[in-house]
Amino acid sequence: MRRRKFVQLASLLPTGVLLNNSNVQAKSVDADNEINPVVISTWAPNVKANAAAWQVLVKGGTALDAVHQGVMVPEADPNDQSVGYGGLPDRDGRVTLDACIMDHQYNIGSVMYLEHIKHAITVARLVMEKTPHVQLVGEGALRLALENGMKKENLLTEASEKAWKEWLKTSQYSPMTTVENLLERIKNNHDTIGMLALDKHGNLSGACTTSGMAYKMQGRVGDSPIIGAGLFVDNEVGAATATGVGEEVVRICGSHTVVEYMRHGYSPADACKEAVKRLIKARGEATARKLQIGFIAMNKKGETGCYSLTGSFTMALRNVAGEKVIDAPSLL
Ligand code: ASP
Repeated sequence: MRRRKFVQLASLLPTGVLLNNSNVQAKSVDADNEINPVVISTWAPNVKANAAAWQVLVKGGTALDAVHQGVMVPEADPNDQSVGYGGLPDRDGRVTLDACIMDHQYNIGSVMYLEHIKHAITVARLVMEKTPHVQLVGEGALRLALENGMKKENLLTEASEKAWKEWLKTSQYSPMTTVENLLERIKNNHDTIGMLALDKHGNLSGACTTSGMAYKMQGRVGDSPIIGAGLFVDNEVGAATATGVGEEVVRICGSHTVVEYMRHGYSPADACKEAVKRLIKARGEATARKLQIGFIAMNKKGETGCYSLTGSFTMALRNVAGEKVIDAPSLL
């Protein structure tokens, strides 16, 4: 079947219906040598974000536009308490956002400790495209957003404020309680979104956006806006992104590590697994058992994979065969 017909057919099916389950990991180059797009994200609920990215990809749009549009979905969703609007605040009740974006030509942009603007990813893209810099923090990032027509808003929803006030009753924060917070969030299947896409031109891009660890110290920044840690794209090889305890991902330059393993011939899943092994080596098994960290990756051929340190990590995937949620294998 020629690709165009296949895409038309796929788009007529309700979401969630696969033309052929086994085809989800199908090669992304078809008989006509036309490249079939693919998009993946951290966490099952981000099938919605993938759907938005997919709309860009099927129309022949770029992977960069796809990941940008895609991650804006959870950024705008008040019920997602780990990204954008409605994100859980720091210990002082401030919602501070981190995000980064990377295209197929090593162009990068990131923002950290951004307040009052829900689409942190758009500001990261502004940094990439409209400034001579690659990272802006706090007031400077906010100023760039406002100068480019973005509007200031209150990002602390009633639900997140209530959760913060509950937390204040004990104000317990340690790596262990942080992990418990994460596990609680994982029960609702919400967390940082990292998204990777391959477009029909054969180019890769990625985006990552988060409100960071709930009840963090003021000014704390994790892995998500750090190129090489929360996200890395090398258009000759592949791309990777991470979720979980950012302090640990930064320690091993997680996403860059995954891409380097793919460069040396590892499949995306095996490359993610090697990065997870490195975390265990760095921290020791006893500490690692208490951490939640997951990687997802895509290679230049559009093959995808994921791996988790401990249980309960999922990857959402969308390609010409339909949408799918994959349970990541875990090492511990
Ligand atoms: N990686 C994020 C951070 O450390 C947290 C998360 O994935 O939930 O800020």
